[in-house]
Amino acid sequence: MTKKEEKALYDKEYYAKNKDKYKEHYEKNKEKKLKRDSDRYYKNKESILKRQRLYRKQNYNSKITKARIEKWLKKNPIKYKCYKKFRKALAQNIIKKRNSCEICYNSPTECHHEDYNKPLEIIELCIRCHRFLHRKYKPTHLNS
Ligand SMILES: [Zn+2]
Ligand SMILES: [Zn+2]
Repeated sequence: MTKKEEKALYDKEYYAKNKDKYKEHYEKNKEKKLKRDSDRYYKNKESILKRQRLYRKQNYNSKITKARIEKWLKKNPIKYKCYKKFRKALAQNIIKKRNSCEICYNSPTECHHEDYNKPLEIIELCIRCHRFLHRKYKPTHLNS
């Protein structure tokens, strides 16, 4: 018999002898123990779930964003190149924004490219005129 087995047997016998004591003790502390266990469980559960949610959210978002950008780049490589060149030219003061819409003189403005192969040839438009140009919205602000 190994020491481990000896101890197990001893524990078993000890338990058998003191069964009633144990039972009493167990019954006395059952509710307390259950409450403590469930408290611990729910506390951990919350933090585990929280961690899982956060992890999922972060990964989900970065995956989605990455996928979206990749998709957009594949679909619009010319636009992307144009945008990069345009931003660079703007940062280097090669081109300057007037911050006035070329149609309605509103501001702020966005830069519209008629030809994405000519990144420095821009038309400055306010958001609404710009959207209208892309035929997404009616230019309601030009009616009055
Ligand atoms: Zn545009
Ligand atoms: Zn405008």
